Amino acid sequence: MNVKAPLVYINVAMRNWRAWAKLGVNAVSNPGGMFPSMSLDFPVSLGAYHFARTPDDPIVAHLLFVPTEPNVGLGMREQYRAGRTKLYTMTFGDFETNIRDEMTRILGPGGFVFDRDVAGITVNRWAHGYAYTPESLTDDPAVQKVRAEVARQPIGRVTIANSDAGWDAYTDVAIDEAHRAITEIAAMA
Ligand SMILES: Cc1cc2nc3c(=O)[nH]c(=O)nc-3n(C[C@H](O)[C@H](O)[C@H](O)COP(=O)(O)OP(=O)(O)OC[C@H]3O[C@@H](n4cnc5c(N)ncnc54)[C@H](O)[C@@H]3O)c2cc1C
Repeated sequence: MNVKAPLVYINVAMRNWRAWAKLGVNAVSNPGGMFPSMSLDFPVSLGAYHFARTPDDPIVAHLLFVPTEPNVGLGMREQYRAGRTKLYTMTFGDFETNIRDEMTRILGPGGFVFDRDVAGITVNRWAHGYAYTPESLTDDPAVQKVRAEVARQPIGRVTIANSDAGWDAYTDVAIDEAHRAITEIAAMA
C-alpha cells in the first residue's frame, strides 16, 4: 500500500547570520534532533531582489521536520501514519519551542540569541507530502512493481496519474505518470 510520508518545511526569518558566519557553517546536519537539517537560503538574486551578501544582512533559514515514530519497531508505513497523527496534534507553539531550543544549542556558541535574531517563523505542513518510496530493508521491489501496475489500471475512461502511481516521491515521476495516463486516454479514443 502506498502510504504518503508527512513532511514539514520551516522558514526562520533572521535579522542577520553572524552566528553562522562565526561558526563557519551554512548548513547543519542534526540527526538526533527534531530538525535533521538547517540551512541558510541559497545565494540567488532575481531582478531587484538580492541575496544576503554580508552576515549583517537579513536571511531565511530552512529547517526540515519529518514526523515519524522511530525506534519502536514500526515499519515505514506505520511510522508515516503515526507521524501524521503527531503532526495533527502539534501546535505552532510546539514548533517554536523546539526551533528555539535546537537553534540556540547549535548556534548559541556563535552568539545567536533567538529573541534578538529571529524576526518570524512560518511552518508549512504537508500531512501527505512524499509518495511512498519502497525501501530495500522490508519491501520487495518486484512485489511493489506488480502492485503499482495493478493499482494504476484505468477505471472505465478514467486513467491514473500522480507520483503515487509510480511509487516515488519526485516530480520527474509525476511527469512520467501523467504522460502515461494521457497516453492511455489517447489510446482509448
Ligand atoms: C515539501 C515538499 C517538497 C518537495 N520537494 C521536491 C523537490 O525538491 N524535488 C522534486 O522533484 N519533488 C519534490 N516534492 C515532490 C513533488 O511536489 C511531487 O512529486 C509532485 O508535486 C507530484 O505531482 P502530482 O501531479 O503527482 O501530484 P500533486 O502535485 O499532489 O497534484 C495533485 C493535484 O490534485 C489536486 N486534487 C486532489 N484531489 C482532487 C480532487 N478530488 N479533485 C480535483 N483535484 C484534486 C490537488 O489539489 C493537487 O493540486 C516535494 C514535495 C513536498 C510536499
